[in-house]
Amino acid sequence: MKICVVGVGYVGLVTAACLAEAGNNVVCVDKDADKIAGLKNGMLPIYEPGLGELVKHNERLGRLQFTTELKYGVDNSLIIFLAVGTPSYEDGSADISAILSVAGEIGKYLSEYRIIAIKSTVPVGTYKKVIEVIKSKTEVSFDYVSNPEFLKEGDAVEDFMRPDRIIIGTTNPAAQKIMKQLYGPFMRKSSRILFMDPASAELTKYAANMMLATRISFMNEISALCERLGADVELVRGGLGSDTRIGSAFLFPGVGFGGSCLPKDIRALIHTGSVHGVDMAIAKAVERVNIEARERFAKRVKDCFSGSEDRTVLAVWGLSFKAKTDDVRESPAIYCIKKFLDWKMKIKAYDPEAGPTAAAALGGKLEIFQNGYDALDKADALVIFTDWQEFRNPDFDVIAAKLKRPVIFDGRNLYDPEIVKNAGIEYHSIGRAAILH
Ligand code: NAD
Repeated sequence: MKICVVGVGYVGLVTAACLAEAGNNVVCVDKDADKIAGLKNGMLPIYEPGLGELVKHNERLGRLQFTTELKYGVDNSLIIFLAVGTPSYEDGSADISAILSVAGEIGKYLSEYRIIAIKSTVPVGTYKKVIEVIKSKTEVSFDYVSNPEFLKEGDAVEDFMRPDRIIIGTTNPAAQKIMKQLYGPFMRKSSRILFMDPASAELTKYAANMMLATRISFMNEISALCERLGADVELVRGGLGSDTRIGSAFLFPGVGFGGSCLPKDIRALIHTGSVHGVDMAIAKAVERVNIEARERFAKRVKDCFSGSEDRTVLAVWGLSFKAKTDDVRESPAIYCIKKFLDWKMKIKAYDPEAGPTAAAALGGKLEIFQNGYDALDKADALVIFTDWQEFRNPDFDVIAAKLKRPVIFDGRNLYDPEIVKNAGIEYHSIGRAAILH
């Protein structure tokens, strides 16, 4: 099939590369000329495991093209996906101006039937606005499909290739048939396509993110209680997750959720509720508990160096909002580092992929190292924010020897407290008693 993907970010580029891998011809359109020029020269704008190989392979075979010309994409495709950003406005509502502006341009260029499929996360009712905008520009017939994306950064290629489900929000049988054909190669064992109306599809995406965020905030609230009661949240988590009605996924306590999706989507849902007279009490609590988790963690670090903050040097491992990505949008690490900097602490940081994006987000106010152990030299403590695989089994003797104090603040519960204790390191983790020396 001939496909156009507008917006070549974390969702768009993965969508385009995976659809090309299935044999489709895909035109990628982005307004960011530097990004397009880089892609044409084989440079990926993001880090995502497995994506580089797919992009290179399919570009070489001529199945993946990059351009800033939307008209070229519209002319040369049957399905046009929109995967542009939908960030938050100040009041929490989703900014869909990029969606509407692209829709207007598509309307201008339409010369024959197309399917317009929205992958971006958009508030319920956006479908009506998009249809209206396109219809105001053209008489040519088109179908609208709400096709929210559920991939996770870090596992995006795998998620796209083997999705839990595909949501197709259209009641039009012709459009349903074409979308089913497109996604067929990604569900050869059994069909996991769910057809529904566009409004339900739009809300399903928010409901899914809200449920995931709720589980994280729930565990962080239980962690806070564990810390007060002397219980161990890791044991509670095991006991809780083994109930088949509950399941063990997304029950990890930590420094709170971040990224470009959960925080903004919770805010958008709260805003949608307020517009329609529904008090989204759970969503509000989830957001509040999430901020509290970060604040509590940052304060624990501060309390440890109370009175000498301006002489404290922190080594930080992990800057991205989660492992296997370079994305630092709304990362708890960035949030807490801003606090540390406000308290006049110095930061020496290491992240396997997110050093440059974090340095940009923090205006270069931290020292970035190419190796986790180098960041420890002359530091007072090690603070861990991200559960990268390479942090899971470090040489504790080296950590103990390099740190001045030595103390670890572990925002991801990566370690067995006994092992850290045996290395002579003070250990603070989430929802478990601190191991002091
Ligand atoms: P992103 O910021 O990485 O990419 C968006 C891209 O759109 C950028 O390259 C930008 O230059 C381009 N763009 C913006 N306006 C444009 C325009 N008018 N014309 C052409 N290109 C334009 O965003 P993302 O993380 O890929 O997210 C995209 C959407 O998908 C959002 O709605 C997000 O909520 C949703 N989503 C994201 C994820 C994720 O893990 N990142 C997962 C599921 C859904």
